[in-house]
Amino acid sequence: MARVLFINAGSEGHVNPTIGVVQELISREEEVVYFTIEDFRARIEKTGAMVRTIDAQKFIKAFISGGRNNLLERINGLLHTVEIMIPSVLEQIEGEHFDYIIHDSMFGCGRLIAQILHLPAICSCSSFAETKRSFDNMFEQISKNIPAETFAEYQRLTGRVKDKYGVEIHSPYEVFCNPAPLTIVYTTREFQPFGDEFDQTYKFVGTSISSRLTQENFDLTEIKGKSPIYISLGTVFNQAIDFYKLCIKAFGNTDHNVVMAIGEKVQISDLGEIPKNFIVKNYVPQTEVLKYAKLFITHGGMNSAHEGLYYGVPLIVIPQSADQPIIAGQVERVGAGIQLQMKCLTANQLRESADHVLNQSSFHNAAAKMKESLQKSGGYQQAVNKIFEFISQYDN
Ligand code: UDP
Repeated sequence: MARVLFINAGSEGHVNPTIGVVQELISREEEVVYFTIEDFRARIEKTGAMVRTIDAQKFIKAFISGGRNNLLERINGLLHTVEIMIPSVLEQIEGEHFDYIIHDSMFGCGRLIAQILHLPAICSCSSFAETKRSFDNMFEQISKNIPAETFAEYQRLTGRVKDKYGVEIHSPYEVFCNPAPLTIVYTTREFQPFGDEFDQTYKFVGTSISSRLTQENFDLTEIKGKSPIYISLGTVFNQAIDFYKLCIKAFGNTDHNVVMAIGEKVQISDLGEIPKNFIVKNYVPQTEVLKYAKLFITHGGMNSAHEGLYYGVPLIVIPQSADQPIIAGQVERVGAGIQLQMKCLTANQLRESADHVLNQSSFHNAAAKMKESLQKSGGYQQAVNKIFEFISQYDN
């Protein structure tokens, strides 16, 4: 039995794919101490892991304080979170022994913590992976438009990390992508952009779906055999009341059954009258709903897109931000759906696009192919196989 330190300060999309991994580690006798924010305590405790928390408000404030105007400001934001994460983690694990660390690819300063504690490290990559070469190329392009002060701030913050913790940061890539000697990526090599460029330290394990907390506010028998259209913009970029109203206009009182998850920032009562063919909730058990869905209208979050395809559901992707345009492009590339732009979207366009995707067998066939390749990739079980193979080199 080994003791595993799990570091993940991200939102739901960063946490969800790790739940199966943690469950599997524990079922194979590992002991896991998982650092996250209070919101995810219940779902992670359910795996049997010991949960310790960091202050979410302080973390977000530190991240945002870096600025949001360009990538380097976001990277500086991540460097500001060092001051929240590292003292808190070090204090809470004082005197304890760990055998290895698994950390998120973006949030939680995992790479730094691994170096401070001298632990073998595994990166849990909840977005598409990025090679240093492609990151550096992209960064070079955009850096012409980044003010000198932002670079000076980056130098100051990395210098502070070196002075305080004795760890050298060599590039913005290290801060943004938290590279590690083993990276678990929750997609297939074929679906990953430029998948061939990743060496064998990257393991593409497909979608990591495990049973989550049961949702008492959703009666799945209501949608059994009804093949609904499922609509969700995920958990972050979901404050889109006009979009939800547009969906009601597009599909209200049609032959389609619709399940729409609107997130916690919008009130259901703000949407006016809900047509009889709609079920609207703030949050639904998405991976359960997708088992019955005939079409998924999604923002194209990494998890949502993969969860839909894992169940062979064709997608209409309406990207909102972050890596979602890239995911939308990949969905189109494999033919498992189409993308639409939120700007100028009309109810007619959405309804016609849905009919188009539903009536063309090519979308269903491509989604079925994705389902097959994602399901045979092994998910969280394969992730743990790869973690054990990697860790065995450190035995004795
Ligand atoms: N999710 C859910 N119910 C909802 C909305 C979201 O279970 O009503 C889950 C979904 O299954 C996915 C995660 O939240 O695992 C959202 O992650 P994603 O990467 O798709 O998008 P983000 O929320 O990070 O934008």
